Amino acid sequence: MALDDLYREVILDHHAHPRNRGRLEPNDVAVEGANPLCGDELMLYLNLRDGRVEEVRFEGHGCAISQASASMMTEAIKGRTLDEVRALVAALKGMMRGEEPGEEVGDLIALQGVRKFPVRVKCATLPWVSLEQGLDEYAAR
Ligand code: ZN
Repeated sequence: MALDDLYREVILDHHAHPRNRGRLEPNDVAVEGANPLCGDELMLYLNLRDGRVEEVRFEGHGCAISQASASMMTEAIKGRTLDEVRALVAALKGMMRGEEPGEEVGDLIALQGVRKFPVRVKCATLPWVSLEQGLDEYAAR
């Protein structure tokens, strides 16, 4: 499948049917993210256990790309170790900067299509930047 088609199909599917949407209470991590340029707002919740992401949910509103990226992210990180999650965040951010992604990005390769729309890159990275911030705050406690 061409990347353009994959991009459209995956983004539209996650936008129409967001995965892991909702609040998580109680939670170990609750972090807010915003992309004022586009009006995207996001709340991200995580529960961690034994160094892994046991549960993850998100709430928010904004453009299809930001919401789809958040939905895809929750699927990608659930059950992963924190080291794996941080590696994935780095890979995703690198990919959005124009680096060639490795296999670890999996289905997230679809987000590569966003690079053609530079003003939307921040929409796609918003959930990932928020996730990193939440993990940093958690680690600093
Ligand atoms: Zn946006």
